[in-house]
Amino acid sequence: MKWGLIGASDIAATRVIPAMRNAGHEVYGVMSSKKDRAKSYAATNLIKHHTSEIENLLSWPIDAVYISTTNDLHAEQAVAAANAGKHILCEKPIALNVSDGQRMINEAKKNGVIFATNHHIRTSGVHQKIREIVENKLLGDIYLARINHVVGLPERLQGWRLDSAVQGAGVVLDITVHNVDTLRAALGSEITSVIAYTSSNGLSQTGVEDTANCTFLFANGVIANTSESFAIPFSTTSFELHGSHGSMVATNVMTQDPTGEIVLTDSEGSRIIEVEDRDNLYVKTLLQFEKAIKGLGSPYATGDDGFAAMQGALAVLLSAKQRRVVQIDEV
Ligand code: NDP
Repeated sequence: MKWGLIGASDIAATRVIPAMRNAGHEVYGVMSSKKDRAKSYAATNLIKHHTSEIENLLSWPIDAVYISTTNDLHAEQAVAAANAGKHILCEKPIALNVSDGQRMINEAKKNGVIFATNHHIRTSGVHQKIREIVENKLLGDIYLARINHVVGLPERLQGWRLDSAVQGAGVVLDITVHNVDTLRAALGSEITSVIAYTSSNGLSQTGVEDTANCTFLFANGVIANTSESFAIPFSTTSFELHGSHGSMVATNVMTQDPTGEIVLTDSEGSRIIEVEDRDNLYVKTLLQFEKAIKGLGSPYATGDDGFAAMQGALAVLLSAKQRRVVQIDEV
C-alpha cells in the first residue's frame, strides 16, 4: 500500500504516519497548502515526496489518500481523489453538511473506490468486546446508554478547532461525532432524534462551543446521553450500557489508545470482562482498509458510517441553536 497524505496535520504526524509504517505501508508523499510547510513536514516525518498541489499528489503512483486537513476541505479533496481513482481514508467529520457528505459517497461509489472514515474508537478491542456483549444479549434489552467523553484540549491543538467556524471548529464536530459513531457501532441502530445543549466556557475567542450534553433517541428505543468537553481536564472517559438483564460500565475507553476496562453486573454479581485484543487502533483501521481494497470485507467505518456520525453531530448543533428536539432527517 502506498499512501499520499492530503494535509500536513498533527494527527498524521502523531498517530497515522507511525501506524502506516507499523502496518507495513509506505508513506509515499505529503501535500500541504504551503510549499515550505510541505517541504519541512516531509523532512521532519521522513517522507520522500511533497507538493502543494493536489493534482500533483493525485498523479503520484499511490493507492490511497489519507485526508486530514481542516474539516471544511475534506469534501472537495475526497471528490478529487475519487475522480482520480484513489481509495480514500477521510478524517471525521467527513464534511460540514449532508449534501457534501452525500456527494463524497456518491463519487466514491461511481469511481469504484473504497471510502472509509477514521472513526478509530470503534476499532478498539474493548469496543469490539462491547459489541459482542450487546449481540450476545448479556445485558438483555438495552434501554439506556451513556458516554462521558470530556478532556482538556492539549495546547498544541488549540487553533482552528476552537475558533474557526468556517473550518469546522467546536467540540461537537470534534468529539460528539466520535460518540455518535461509537453508539451506532455498539447498538447497531440509527438515531431518530436529538435534543442537546452546548456551552462556551472561555476557551474560544469567538464563542464556539467547547462543551456539550446531548440526548439521542435511537430507532431501537434506546435513549443515549453523551457529554463532551474540551474544557474539563481531570475527568476519566466512560461508556455505559444498561439493560433489562445487566449493566456494563467501561472506563477509560473513549481514547486514542487500546486502553480501558469493562465491568459487567448482572444477577450473578459484578465481573471484569477480559479483553485480549489490545492492538493499536490506527494500525487496525489501516490493515482493515487494505483488506477492503482487496475485496476482503469492509472498512471498520465506511463513508456511510462517517455520514451518519456527521449527521448526528449536525443535528446536535441545530438542536442546541434552536433549543428544541431535532429529527435526524431535518439536517
Ligand atoms: P492540524 O491543525 O494539525 O492540521 C490541520 C491543517 O492545519 C493541516 O492540514 C495544515 O494545513 C494546517 N496546519 C497544521 N499545523 C500547522 C502549522 N504549524 N502551521 C500552519 N498550518 C498548520 O489538525 P489535526 O491533526 O488536529 O486535525 C486534522 C483532522 O483530523 C481534522 O479533521 C480532525 O477532526 C481529525 N482528527 C481525527 C482524529 C482521530 O483520531 N480520528 C484525532 C485528531 C484529529 P496544510 O496541510 O495546508 O499544511
